[in-house]
Amino acid sequence: MHVVILGLPGAGKGTQAASIIEEFRIPHIATGDMFREAKAAKTPLGKEVQAYLDKGLLVPDELTIRLVRERLQQPDAKHGFLLDGFPRTLPQAKALDGMLAEEGLALTHVLYLEVSETELLQRLTGRRVCPACGASYHLTLHKPRIEGVCNRCASALIQRPDDKPEAVAVRLQENLERTRMLAEFYEARGLLGKIDGERSVKRVYDEIRQALRGDHS
Ligand code: AMP
Repeated sequence: MHVVILGLPGAGKGTQAASIIEEFRIPHIATGDMFREAKAAKTPLGKEVQAYLDKGLLVPDELTIRLVRERLQQPDAKHGFLLDGFPRTLPQAKALDGMLAEEGLALTHVLYLEVSETELLQRLTGRRVCPACGASYHLTLHKPRIEGVCNRCASALIQRPDDKPEAVAVRLQENLERTRMLAEFYEARGLLGKIDGERSVKRVYDEIRQALRGDHS
């Protein structure tokens, strides 16, 4: 199972990815998380990408492709994976095809979570995340039990720097046209499964499960 989950920032990729990896037992490879970890650990890569991340700009393809290539060579990715946040550009998509082809592999599913821009703006600017365990909340749509505190690990919630309104506008602009082109790229290959991402988390996941199981009943 070699799966890509595609969608604009805030479409629910991370939330759905958590359920997918639990049920289908494949590693979750999220380039955004990897970049944020590198930034927090102040590795050379982290220092190089910090400014892009904070402004909501895309990290250059070359760096991103190298990161994913190295990650896909890890043993746990040999029997399947869920890519989240990658590819984000056509050169990345083509590089991914190339990496898989070298191993005689190909993508099996591309799940495309479709959500309107208005809804995305509301979701992103209200999002609060736990810096310790990665859990995600929303000021009005998904409140934690205690305001500002993670339900799972009791850490103080934060707003990602790129969820601040100025950066959100840049991120949507950066990703809008590219995501549309990626959807077309995969649709032309017969891989694209379009999913209405505005419904409840559970209903979205039910549809994802059907798509992944090839069960259209
Ligand atoms: P995300 O958590 O997926 O929204 O990603 C957060 C940030 O990481 C993005 O705004 C970019 O700066 C960077 N990033 C993540 N994935 C990619 C990618 N595939 N290509 C370029 N930049 C990326």
